[in-house]
Amino acid sequence: MEAKMARLVMKFGGTSVGDIERIRNVAQHVKREIDAGHEVAVVVSAMAGTTNQLVAWAREMAPLHDAREYDAIVATGEQVTVGLLSIELQRIGVSARSWLGWQIPIRTDNAHGAARIQEIDGTALIERLARKEVAVIAGFQGLAPDNRITTLGRGGSDTSAVAVAAAIHADRCDIYTDVDGVYTTDPRIVAKARKLDKISYEEMLEMASLGAKVLQTRSVELAMVHRVRLQVRSSFDAPDAAQGNGPEATGPGTLVCDEDEILEQQVVSGIAYSKDEAKVTLVKVEDKPGVAARVFGPLADAAINVDMIIQNVSDDGRSTDITFTVPQAELTRAEDVIRKLQAGIGCKEVKTDLNVVKVSIIGIGMRSHAGVAKTMFQTLAEKGINILAITTSEIKVSVLISSEYTELAVRALHTAYDLDAG
Ligand code: ASP
Ligand code: MG
Repeated sequence: MEAKMARLVMKFGGTSVGDIERIRNVAQHVKREIDAGHEVAVVVSAMAGTTNQLVAWAREMAPLHDAREYDAIVATGEQVTVGLLSIELQRIGVSARSWLGWQIPIRTDNAHGAARIQEIDGTALIERLARKEVAVIAGFQGLAPDNRITTLGRGGSDTSAVAVAAAIHADRCDIYTDVDGVYTTDPRIVAKARKLDKISYEEMLEMASLGAKVLQTRSVELAMVHRVRLQVRSSFDAPDAAQGNGPEATGPGTLVCDEDEILEQQVVSGIAYSKDEAKVTLVKVEDKPGVAARVFGPLADAAINVDMIIQNVSDDGRSTDITFTVPQAELTRAEDVIRKLQAGIGCKEVKTDLNVVKVSIIGIGMRSHAGVAKTMFQTLAEKGINILAITTSEIKVSVLISSEYTELAVRALHTAYDLDAG
């Protein structure tokens, strides 16, 4: 069957371009799509480890430094890989040209180090692709309004790829990485984890923000807004392995797409866990109107991300305990804020706990099924695991538990929701 011509963005992460041999392998993946008649734009990261080194040098030069110069430094990693890949593509007979962010240009705001893409004019790119010239684009970087180089934040080349895909109206954006897809849970702790064929944007967004490292969260948000279909797949597959091409094909890996495309929807699609949680308990604060506002207002003003919150029922009607969680990296700042307001709310003691983990079940099927949370609580109860806090959203239930039970909880839930492979 003659496959229809498709316009593709192929993104390769740091390990996929980690050395010369791997870049040659990437070129073969690109050649396969070109030979199949497709138009291809490639987005690459820096070689694995390079960006870390560049960041380290900047910090060593001066811990506090000009963010514009930080970007000038850390954006260089991708300049190397676009050039190398272009040379290799040309060597094997594929027409190719490298592009840095400013040459496209990929216009961003001026938030150096964490810039957001504002605009990409895809017209010129589309013309070049139509001439079967591969555009090899540096991920992670862009151009600020004042024409200085910006970077998008670590892991940002996923976002570059999705933004380019949206700008050129690509049929699909293939994210080649060092895993072969998105799994029902972390295969390192659950041997029976299954690779998903498809997952909805919403679910992937939850998985990504809950710590599944496959995709940068922002890239999923952007894909959802622009309805860019994302295929997560391994760059270590043999480039010539038989696989479906064209806009209709899903090929190997996991397709992140609109939920309408997913026919056999599970109630729970995945289980995520995050160890990056810290629990803070304010012991015996006054139980009267306005106390929560006096605690969480200043935390919000300090840009601290409070996630789960519990306020206990007070037994004496006068004082109560308030418990909440923050990312571990923000704990010190949170304690600082709390210390300043502690006396004012009559709080006797502040306790913190880092040995906690947040385990979440995720699935758009929850919208239409009752009793999903009940199964979670029962399963944990059967294993004797105590729940310290609970939060829910439309497609997610999260519980905070003691971190020593991480593996046990995730495995039991994986079985309970029928996700086990085989
Ligand atoms: N090279 C950049 C980083 O390490 C961007 C990326 O790989 O996505 O963060
Ligand atoms: Mg990455």
